[in-house]
Amino acid sequence: MILKNQVAIVTGASRGIGRAIVLKLASLGVHVAFNYAKNKDAAGSLEKEVKKMGVQCQGACVDIKDFNEVKKWIDGVKDHFGQIDILINNAGIINDKALMLMSPEDWQQVIDTNLNGMFNAARACIITFLKQKSGQIINISSVSGLIGLPRQTNYAASKGAMNAFTKSLAKETAGYGIRVNAIAPGFIETDMLSEFKEEQKKQILDMVPLGRLGTPEDVAGCVEFLLSKHAQYITGQIIQIDGGLAIR
Ligand code: NAP
Repeated sequence: MILKNQVAIVTGASRGIGRAIVLKLASLGVHVAFNYAKNKDAAGSLEKEVKKMGVQCQGACVDIKDFNEVKKWIDGVKDHFGQIDILINNAGIINDKALMLMSPEDWQQVIDTNLNGMFNAARACIITFLKQKSGQIINISSVSGLIGLPRQTNYAASKGAMNAFTKSLAKETAGYGIRVNAIAPGFIETDMLSEFKEEQKKQILDMVPLGRLGTPEDVAGCVEFLLSKHAQYITGQIIQIDGGLAIR
């Protein structure tokens, strides 16, 4: 599998896991387009860093929740680069609350970003992938979607649905040379985790058999594997990168 000069789209990449994935792809010679919600400075500095690595990079402020805007963005990426080979659906948020305190807006915002956002980007890429009879989609899900976590009914529901989407689309498109997989991270050290109190972080660490939090690079390494020649017979899988947290 020669990744050099392929073109990837990574959603939600100004920070955290998405950023590490963009840097990993760039190190493999892949040209990258990514979007973000509001963090223009972080996106600009990532774009600069990636260009220095000798590949093309385009960051765009596009709300992943907006079907039409996402389509316009991805159509523009295809026009600019002439191809799209890889889609990484990474943009995601949490809004943790007990169900009794969760408003319809708290529910909807998480579902719209994590689940509908993935649909929006996949829908915008899929005809290109079907026509060229190749393409790889990796959805960044969560162990929360596999085992459930308290105060995350909205988030766990969005991620569980992403896992089901992954399996269905893998079956639907395998005959066209398209592979669709998901990565389910455990607790990864990013801004998302900064919303947890120190006490909660200690409790989390006690739950992780490998005894440490994950890094964005742990997740990016799995992306590299899934795109590599070693993973060409893998599709429809949900791969846990969680230090053993959700061993079942
Ligand atoms: P993060 O550090 O909070 O970064 C989130 C990224 O998504 C940012 O680039 C943000 O852009 C972007 N984003 C958020 N809402 C968006 C929107 N409406 N439109 C476009 N972009 C949007 O998060 P992370 O920890 O790296 O998480 C990345 C993915 O991994 C998520 O899907 C998350 O659910 C999943 N995950 C994370 C963990 C963890 O422990 N960190 C565990 C399991 C799964 P701005 O910078 O502009 O806000």
